[in-house]
Amino acid sequence: MKIHKDAVVAFHYVLKDKAGKTLDSSAGQAPLEYMQGHGQIVPGLERRMEGASEGDAFEVVVLAADGYGERDHEAMLGMSRDDLPQGLDPQVGMQLAARHPEGGMVALRIVAVSETQVTLDANHPLAGEDLHFSVQIESVRAATTEELQHGHAHGAHGRHDHHEEHAHEHGPACQHDRNVN
Ligand code: ZN
Repeated sequence: MKIHKDAVVAFHYVLKDKAGKTLDSSAGQAPLEYMQGHGQIVPGLERRMEGASEGDAFEVVVLAADGYGERDHEAMLGMSRDDLPQGLDPQVGMQLAARHPEGGMVALRIVAVSETQVTLDANHPLAGEDLHFSVQIESVRAATTEELQHGHAHGAHGRHDHHEEHAHEHGPACQHDRNVN
């Protein structure tokens, strides 16, 4: 079957930056499984997936705007060290999770530390990067009724981005790994 909206797709990928450095890869892991048409993979890759079939392999360059977005310089914020959780020893590169005022969690990376202040960056680590994907499609199948209700894949190896929001809907049979992206 071909990939179209609501198809459950499992694929292997290697993600490189412009310079050819590997940023991420599914090699040695289960293929990444997602449901087409629900924004669970970056928009440029999801568009390229449309109409592809099991066994297809392709390369695609996804520009930053169709990937994790351009870097937003407004998304940098300074914070007094006194406002950090007690006992936290801030280090550059450390990632903190903060509750977003409109709900959900946002990941903040520490990008600078001084004696009194830390600087946090809310941009996705791959914001501003053009993404060079090599993709191998392992399987394409129709979604189950439960997957359609939830709007995401439920494979044994299923991973998706919004587990926390949907955790309450999920019975014991529904297992999700936290997505690394
Ligand atoms: Zn679910």
